[in-house]
Amino acid sequence: MPVVEPHVMEALLAYLRSNCAHMCRHWFNEIEVIELSQGTLTLLVKEQVRLKYLQRCCVDQFTEAAQAATGRLLAVEFIGENKQVERAEDKASTGVFTQPELDEEMILSPDYTFDSFVVGPDNRLAHAASLAVAQKPGKAYNPFFVHGGVGLGKTHLLQAICQMAMRTHNGMRIFYTSCNGFMNHFMEAVQAGQMADFRHRFRNFDLLIVDDIHDLSKRGPSQEEFFHTFNTLYQAGRQIVLSSDAPPNEIPDLEERLTSRFNCGLVANVERPCYETRVAIVRSKAQMRNVDLPDDCAAYIASRLDSNIRELEGAITKLQGFALLEQSAIDLELCKKAIGEQESSTPGSPTTIQEILNTISSYYGLRITDLLSKRRHKSIALPRQIGMYLARKHTRFSLGEIGGYFGGRDHTTVMHAIRSIDTRRTGDRHLDDEVRRLEELIVHPSLPTSGE
Ligand code: ADP
Ligand code: MG
Repeated sequence: MPVVEPHVMEALLAYLRSNCAHMCRHWFNEIEVIELSQGTLTLLVKEQVRLKYLQRCCVDQFTEAAQAATGRLLAVEFIGENKQVERAEDKASTGVFTQPELDEEMILSPDYTFDSFVVGPDNRLAHAASLAVAQKPGKAYNPFFVHGGVGLGKTHLLQAICQMAMRTHNGMRIFYTSCNGFMNHFMEAVQAGQMADFRHRFRNFDLLIVDDIHDLSKRGPSQEEFFHTFNTLYQAGRQIVLSSDAPPNEIPDLEERLTSRFNCGLVANVERPCYETRVAIVRSKAQMRNVDLPDDCAAYIASRLDSNIRELEGAITKLQGFALLEQSAIDLELCKKAIGEQESSTPGSPTTIQEILNTISSYYGLRITDLLSKRRHKSIALPRQIGMYLARKHTRFSLGEIGGYFGGRDHTTVMHAIRSIDTRRTGDRHLDDEVRRLEELIVHPSLPTSGE
């Protein structure tokens, strides 16, 4: 078997990092080279979910990278441990522990594990319950129902449960699907006249996880079928895990008998993450992608993007792209360039810090980058302090978040700014007027500002 020199894999990964950065994960380092023979580079991936991810999403990129790294026309193949055992015909395969093959139809992301899930006050209960369910399916909370807005980690938690259960309970029949996936299977079975098979399959799982169950809304026959699936599993003490964008009672057009079933176990809610949680999530996402992200950058990103966590991930991808493009390390300047001007405001919506920054910048004729910079000249420092003061007064952001917006400053700086403006307003008529005028502009943005 021709030996593959170690530098080949290094070169391959380096190529991927600079050409398909968004796809790279820290665990790519654990991929093992098995052999290079007959024009095929065979790579071993021990973990099933990772293996499936590579086979599903990364074959073309790896092939391109392998060709670039070796200068040869190669194919790339990913194999799991089972396959490796099969191949090593000489070796006795007994006694070798291999993970069971993953269900072909189950699409899981290797990113969604408990390890990479950040726990905060906003998701603590949902996380704890998910862990308990993964450790003791059918025994902890049944059903387990998690609900919350878009991008707040429901799918992440459900897939983490699935992956942990697969790893720790050998031989357990586990299935994760979206509600639409369930309904598609059902419709196909109806059309093909294979309802018996369908029922046999879905009513024999030990752990059934259905994501986005609110999609059952208005789907009469599917609701009926799901109701029976649910009952059979539940009565047999099998674990059911569900997620939804609303609590059971608030899912429109859902039969009462389903609502009451969904409510009979544990219902937990995931809320919008607070600033600290967001910073930790940004760090975790960066780490997963092997991105060196300085603390001030994490704080800046977390303060700029606050509603949907998916945006945080997008920001890191964008940042990676910028770093490559500019051939520079990731720092605050680059962060600001990459995501600084992303926010936009709509009339009638609550004031955003960006609006305050815009107002201050045009009122004083300063550039936003100056307001966010470290420069301390009075002509910049005072408007900046007024900005922080107004942000505190007119938005619901915390001191830390405001500091993040204002160029990654910490909460004590913001507190100091607020106190200072407060005190000065009482003794300085001119400043007091100025702040008042700025407040008018922020509350009624249609008023003209001095020079744009
Ligand atoms: P939902 O299903 O609630 O719409 P997802 O689970 O798809 O949301 O989460 C959106 C993104 O945010 C995913 O990349 C997910 O990994 C990430 N995410 C959400 N919450 C957390 C968390 N607490 N820790 C780490 N990542 C999170
Ligand atoms: Mg989801």
